Amino acid sequence: MPHRVSAELKFGPTKTFGPTLAVALLVAAAAGVLAQAPQAYDLIIRNARIVDGTGNPWYRGEIAVKGDTIAAIAPRIAGQAARVIDAGGQVVSPGFIDPHTHSSRGIFQVPTADNYVRQGVTTIMEGPDGGSPIPLKPFLDKVAATKITPNWGMFVGQGSVREAVMGNVDRKATPAEIEKMKEIVRQGMRDGAFGLSSGLFYVPGNFTPTEEVIELARAAGEMGGIYISHMRDEASKVLDSVRETIRIGEEGRLPTQVTHHKIIGTANWGKSVDTLRMVDEARARGVDATIDQYPYTASSTSIQAALWPQWAQEGTRPQVLARLKDPAARAKIKAESVLLLKNERGGGDPRNVVVSRCEWDMSLAGKNLADITTLRGLEVTLENAAEAVIWIVEQGGCGGIFHAINEEDLVRILRHPATMIGSDGEVPIFGQANPHPRSYGTFVRVLGMYARDKHVITLEEAVRKMSSATAQRIGLGDRGILRPGLKADIAIFDPATVRDTATFEKPHSYAEGVSVVIVNGQVAFEGGKMTAARPGRVLYGPAKQ
Ligand SMILES: [Zn+2]
Repeated sequence: MPHRVSAELKFGPTKTFGPTLAVALLVAAAAGVLAQAPQAYDLIIRNARIVDGTGNPWYRGEIAVKGDTIAAIAPRIAGQAARVIDAGGQVVSPGFIDPHTHSSRGIFQVPTADNYVRQGVTTIMEGPDGGSPIPLKPFLDKVAATKITPNWGMFVGQGSVREAVMGNVDRKATPAEIEKMKEIVRQGMRDGAFGLSSGLFYVPGNFTPTEEVIELARAAGEMGGIYISHMRDEASKVLDSVRETIRIGEEGRLPTQVTHHKIIGTANWGKSVDTLRMVDEARARGVDATIDQYPYTASSTSIQAALWPQWAQEGTRPQVLARLKDPAARAKIKAESVLLLKNERGGGDPRNVVVSRCEWDMSLAGKNLADITTLRGLEVTLENAAEAVIWIVEQGGCGGIFHAINEEDLVRILRHPATMIGSDGEVPIFGQANPHPRSYGTFVRVLGMYARDKHVITLEEAVRKMSSATAQRIGLGDRGILRPGLKADIAIFDPATVRDTATFEKPHSYAEGVSVVIVNGQVAFEGGKMTAARPGRVLYGPAKQ
């Protein structure tokens, strides 16, 4: 019983080392429990139900923190601490890691990132979907200079790299351009990126041949990075897209991740059976392919990206708008938009598309495409909804929420062992616009609704998908598990009450049931409030120089 031995070794640091104590220390050392000797910690968490992040069943114990590091975990920890937290039998888990966020939207206005931290999230990754600042270093320096609460890491974005070298154009890259792009990727890795992201659904990612992505992915992989992709198509061609994502990992020789995996469009529902089988087959032959997902049946992106044909989005904004002046081009855009409304992100009904934010008219947030069609004096049909979409693009574009995902696919993907949790969210300004609730609720929704209430996965599995699985995927060797020597990113929550309260109707609503969040050993959230501490750090990838 190590804790009993250490209990006998109570002594103050100023005591003289007498012969009795020396013998006791030798005995303790011989018993291999010297680390258990009482000492001063900064923080001890007692009375915890420890869910350590590995997926193992919870166990009772105590956790001691010194500085930014977990110093000890044992059934009982002797010794002093500046601060003792009685977890009261609640769950104590690793802080959650979000592999996919758009948090540069909001982090400089809300550096505490309350929406994430209040869910227990302690690390957020940026630069997904092929979009990142180029170069990365000045941006990372700016984040480092901003005192933020969660830790922060980045990917370098393939679309941004391509745009920097070639512009927003639909053509193949020359060998010289590919070399330039690879060098920008390498520089991004040296600046501290964790790998390459792509958004092959978006311009200019969608203009990129697979072979070109493979070249860039290989450059990132040679420096220890991973590949994470918003795939080319998540609707009718989702199987081709998963095949492409696997191929990029296989030929690029690096880990590859299908990000925010979902099946869009009623006609495609059920295809997750095939996508997951493809991931299993790839893994069986040695391709390191994984998945992340948010637990909602609606997605969110710009209305233009979702409901306009990609060819019509090539070029600068004036070039895009000029196409509408050509009657033939306008008719073609409208006809293809009708199909996207019918079969893809429109979910077959204009009411399934809800405006999240329009910079040029904030009153439109929360209205759906049927409302806007009516406001425009038109009868609600798919054709007239496509007219409304054209009008929105002309005015400057809006963000949208698209209800076109099926719960059965969501649950099937969530159950898959290679799936981890990522929000695809941002740092909202509380009360502003009508964002997707995923920014406020993703992690606690999995814990509350999907683990506790619906029994889709166990609590331990849910935590694993939010902590160790993600840390291992990204390459964060010192986070994601509660273990001595690792960084003290810790969440304490009540498994009986933890839940999301943000809805599509009222998205600005914080998580419930999380009582304490610790980042790098410092308490960042407790008693329902963010503390003054802003302990977050910029985390750098494997090739940082
Ligand atoms: Zn995305």
